[in-house]
Amino acid sequence: MSHRLAVIGYGGMGSWHVENVREKIPSLEVKGIFDVRQEACDKAKENGLFVYSSKEQLLADPEVDLVTIAVPNNFHKPLVIECLRAGKNVICEKPVALNAAELEDMIAVSKETGRLFSIHQNRRWDKDYAIIKKMVREELLGKPYFIESRVLGSRGSMHGWRGYRVNGGGMVLDWGVHLIDQLLDMIDSPVVSVDSHLIHVFGGEVDDSIKVFLRFENGLSAMCEMSTNCFINQPRWHVSCTDGTAVIEDWACNGKMVKLNTEAEMEWADDIVYTEAGPTRTMAPRPKETTLELPLPEVQTDWSDYYKNILAVLDGEAELIVRPEQALRVMKVIDAVFEADRLNCGVHCHI
Ligand code: NAD
Repeated sequence: MSHRLAVIGYGGMGSWHVENVREKIPSLEVKGIFDVRQEACDKAKENGLFVYSSKEQLLADPEVDLVTIAVPNNFHKPLVIECLRAGKNVICEKPVALNAAELEDMIAVSKETGRLFSIHQNRRWDKDYAIIKKMVREELLGKPYFIESRVLGSRGSMHGWRGYRVNGGGMVLDWGVHLIDQLLDMIDSPVVSVDSHLIHVFGGEVDDSIKVFLRFENGLSAMCEMSTNCFINQPRWHVSCTDGTAVIEDWACNGKMVKLNTEAEMEWADDIVYTEAGPTRTMAPRPKETTLELPLPEVQTDWSDYYKNILAVLDGEAELIVRPEQALRVMKVIDAVFEADRLNCGVHCHI
């Protein structure tokens, strides 16, 4: 079946949605956009798009059955509810809401109206994430016990509306929501404690350099770090498992796995080894033949699979991949992230 999309908010991400759909999803026609900014409307016209003169005109268009919302975070809740009540199926950009309570209200309206409601957690289709998810789920290096996930930049304070609390700015709601969503999607166990350090390096209203620590009921721990003030990068992923370690250095997915070589003779002299670190047993290098260096597993990913899933759900052919209930778990963890920072200590939970 063919479907027709309208996009609310034609800024950085709204225009990305339009281009991505036009290029890769032929069965989804882009019917038009609405934006409150004249400059954005002019740009849309230049790009050959129909521009609705008002939100009401867009919502009254009976041909539009799917609306993507890509506006600053504080407008997500009212717009999602308005679109659902107008009978539209809705994709909302992340973070879907500013907190779990807002999202509960949105979910209630989606249930009441029976419309599709999903959140654009596109980073579940990132190649680096798909590699780590496969490695963790299939226990390619034994049981994982500590996962570090980082995105680090050095371009300074949060840009534009992302610098203001009223707009739902700050790093937790910007990248934190992606990295936490990835962890909850990958690890099949409740979160039992959350700690966080939210730093305002640039002295603004919102956090710009953060660390979040999660413990899962199954014993796995994870740490996410995001910064706008880091001048020496660290790996995108570093995963410790019982039989080895995996590293993904960058977005290009350079990296490797190093695994115990169970074939090798493993006779350890219990003597102290004299190294540049001084005399040590634990930190001395291990004999090379006791480990194997392996390439990262191959995976195929495509961001447009998110939209393909939405269309398959609308046609009754698939289950929704990014469900609002999953986003609710993410928002509950995010509420706990802010609470832990406020209290200056970790908080126990069962999320
Ligand atoms: P942006 O500032 O580039 O664009 C936002 C647009 O929304 C602007 O053109 C603005 O005029 C318009 N707008 C504001 N209020 C409006 C309203 N009430 N009605 C209609 N239009 C309105 O911001 P952006 O970077 O595109 O971010 C938009 C959303 O997309 C945010 O929620 C952000 O978190 C999300 N985002 C997601 C990803 C991702 O990877 N999933 C990446 C970037 C941004």
